[in-house]
Amino acid sequence: MRTFSLDSPVQYLKGVGPARAAELGRRGILTAGHLLRILPRRHEDRTVFKPIALLEKGAVGTVQGRVSAIQEVTPRPGLRITRVSVTDGTATLVGVWFNRPQMKTFFKVGARVILSGKVDRFSRELRMANPDYELADGTDGLHAGRLVPIYPSLGRIQPRFMRSLISYVLEHVAGAIPDTVPEEIRRRLGLKDASSAWGSIHFPASHDDLTRARKSLAFEEVFVMQVGLGLLRQRTHRTSGGLVHRPDGPLGRRFLAELPFSLTPAQERVIAEIKRDMESPHPMNRLLQGDVGSGKTVVAAAALLKAVESGYQGAIMAPTEILAEQHYYNLRRLLAPLGVRIALLTGSQRREEREQALFGLSAGNLQIAVGTHALIQEGVVFRALSLAVTDEQHRFGVRQRGLLQVKGAGEAIDVLAMTATPIPRTLALTVYGEMDLSVIDELPPGRKPVTTYWLTSRDRRRAYGFIRRQLAEGRQAYVVCPLVEESEAVEAASATEWVERLKHALPGFRIGLLHGRMRPAEKEGVMAAFRGHELDLLVSTTVIEVGVDVPNANVIVIEGADRFGLAQLHQLRGRVGRGEHSSYCLLIGDPQSEEGRKRLDILTRTTDGFIIAEEDLAIRGPGDFLGTKQHGVPEFVFADPIRDYRLMEYARREAFALLDRDPDLSGPGLEPLREAIRTRFDGLLNDLLIM
Ligand code: ADP
Ligand code: MG
Repeated sequence: MRTFSLDSPVQYLKGVGPARAAELGRRGILTAGHLLRILPRRHEDRTVFKPIALLEKGAVGTVQGRVSAIQEVTPRPGLRITRVSVTDGTATLVGVWFNRPQMKTFFKVGARVILSGKVDRFSRELRMANPDYELADGTDGLHAGRLVPIYPSLGRIQPRFMRSLISYVLEHVAGAIPDTVPEEIRRRLGLKDASSAWGSIHFPASHDDLTRARKSLAFEEVFVMQVGLGLLRQRTHRTSGGLVHRPDGPLGRRFLAELPFSLTPAQERVIAEIKRDMESPHPMNRLLQGDVGSGKTVVAAAALLKAVESGYQGAIMAPTEILAEQHYYNLRRLLAPLGVRIALLTGSQRREEREQALFGLSAGNLQIAVGTHALIQEGVVFRALSLAVTDEQHRFGVRQRGLLQVKGAGEAIDVLAMTATPIPRTLALTVYGEMDLSVIDELPPGRKPVTTYWLTSRDRRRAYGFIRRQLAEGRQAYVVCPLVEESEAVEAASATEWVERLKHALPGFRIGLLHGRMRPAEKEGVMAAFRGHELDLLVSTTVIEVGVDVPNANVIVIEGADRFGLAQLHQLRGRVGRGEHSSYCLLIGDPQSEEGRKRLDILTRTTDGFIIAEEDLAIRGPGDFLGTKQHGVPEFVFADPIRDYRLMEYARREAFALLDRDPDLSGPGLEPLREAIRTRFDGLLNDLLIM
C-alpha cells in the first residue's frame, strides 16, 4: 500500500483513474484532504432492517436477506438489466440494475446481502432500482448496518463510490489531521480532535456522535476566525507607538458649550470613550454604531477637534460627494467659529480649489480634510494626520479603509469608523470582531417616529394631496425616483420625467432635481437651495440615500419602494424625522412577491433600525447581509453565526485568552493554528504571524 497524506493527489487513491481524477479536478477536488471536505447531504439510518413483507411502495428501506436468484436480461441492444432476488423469510425483493454488468458477478446465490433504496411495486413484485448494496458477511459495514452518509453525485461519480473513497482516505490519514484547537481547550470543552471529528462527520457511530462532531468542527472554524480577529485587535492594543492627544483644552470646552443643543447621554458616553482612546498611547480602532439620525456627526466633530487642539490634523471620508459636501458644510458651521480651518477634497472639484486644499493640508494650515475617495489618492499629503474617520463605514472595503491610515503622521493613527447599519450582536462579533464598539442607542429628544404608509401606485394622487398640504404649511419634501438599473444616464432621464410629473401635480411649488449625473457644483447648488428653503420639493435618485440632513423636510415619498432593499429604505426614510415636525414616509409600490410585501410591511410597523436589520438578516441570510467576503472574513461551513452565537462567544473567550498567554502563537503545537489562519484569512493577517 502506498502511504499518503492529506496532500496526496486524488489520482493515487484506490479506484481513482484518470477519468475520475479529472471529474474531481473540475470541481477543485485535487487532494485527499479536499475529498474530506465533500460533506454528506444527510445520513441515512440503515441500522434497522425491515422485513421485506412490510416494505411499502414509495418508502425508503433497508433489508437484509439471502440472494435467491440472479438473472440478466437484454430487452433490446444497449440495455442490459441485472435482477438480483433477495429473500428474508417474509417475502422476496428484487434489486434491479441497468447496464451495470459487474453486479452479476458481485452477488452470489446464497450470499447474505443488504439492499437499501426506494421501494417500488410492479404488479406483485417488490423492487428497488439501483439500490445501495453490501455483502452482509465479513464486510466493513460501509453502506449499511450503520448511519450511512449520503453524498451528492458528482458527475459520473456515484455516491456509493464516494463513500468508499472517503472511507479509504479516513482510514489512511487517521490521526494525521492536524488539530488547530489546542488540546487543553478541546479537552476542557469536551470537543473531538480533528481526526475523529472528521471521521464522525462522515461515518458517525450514532446521532449523538454526529452532533458532537459537528459542534467540534464548528468550534474549530469559529475559533480560528476569532484568533485571527484577536491578532488584528492586538495589533492595535499592543502598539504603544500611537499618537497621544491632549486632554480637552479651551477649544474642546467651547465647542461643547456653544453647541445649539445639549448632547444626549449616549452621545456623551461615546464621546468619552473616543476621547479616552485618543488620549492613550495605544492607537484607537473603534466602530461607532448609531441608527440613522442618532447624531454621529457631532461625535465625529468632537473627535476631529481634539486632533486639531492637540496640534494634529483630522480627516473624515464619506462614500458620496453629496455626503462629503454636507459634512464639509456642517463641520464648518460647528468648527469654523472656533477658528478651525477645513478643506474639502472630492474627485471632481475644480483644479485650483483642489490644489489649494492639497497645499494647505501638506503645509498644515488646513487642519481638517473632508472628502470622498479623493482623500486616499496619491498626492494627498498631510503634515500631521492623527485621526481618520470613515462615515458610513460599511460602504468601504477593507483596503480602502486602511488607505486613509497610511496617510497618518505616525505608524498608528487613531481610527474611528461610523456606521448606521445596526449590526446584530452576533454578526458584530464576526465582522467587526477586531474593533472596539461604541453604540449610540438613543435618538435626540423630541424626535417623533416617522409615520410610514404603504400605498399602491393607484393611490398616488392621495400621496400628492398629502404633500401639497404639508408644503403649504411651510414644510419640505423629498420624492425618491424608482431604482433604474440600466445606467446613471437612464436614471437621470427618468428623474427628469418625474420632475415634470410633479410640477404638473403640484403647481406653484418650487421643485428641484438631484441625480448622479450632475456635476458636484450643481449638486451642491441644489442641496444648498433646498437647505435654505428656496426649494419646496426635491426630486432625487438614491444619491440622497446617506446622511443628508434638512430638518424642515418632513415628508419623503419613495416611488417603486418594492425594488429597494430594507436597509436602503430605512436609510432613505432617515432623511425625515430630523426636526420638530411630525414626519411621514410614503412608500409607493406594488410588490410582486411575498418577500416584497413583507419588506414594505415591516417598515410600516417599526422605525427601529435594529429590528429592521434583524428582519433583513432573516430574509437575506448573513453572508449576503454584510457581504462577509468583502470584509475579508472567512465564511463558515459548519458554524452558523446566528444560531451558534453562544459557541461564538466561547470561541472568542478562548481565542483571546490564548493570545493573552501567547501573543504570537509561537507555542508548541500551534503550527496548525497558524497555518489555518494563514489560509483562511487569505493572507490578510500574514504580517501578524511569525511564519
Ligand atoms: P446621523 O447619525 O444619521 O449621521 P446626524 O449627525 O446627521 O445623524 O444628526 C441628525 C440631526 O440631529 C442633525 O440635524 C443634528 O444636528 C441633530 N442632532 C444631533 N445631536 C443632537 C442632540 N443631542 N440634540 C438635538 N439634535 C441633535
Ligand atoms: Mg450621518
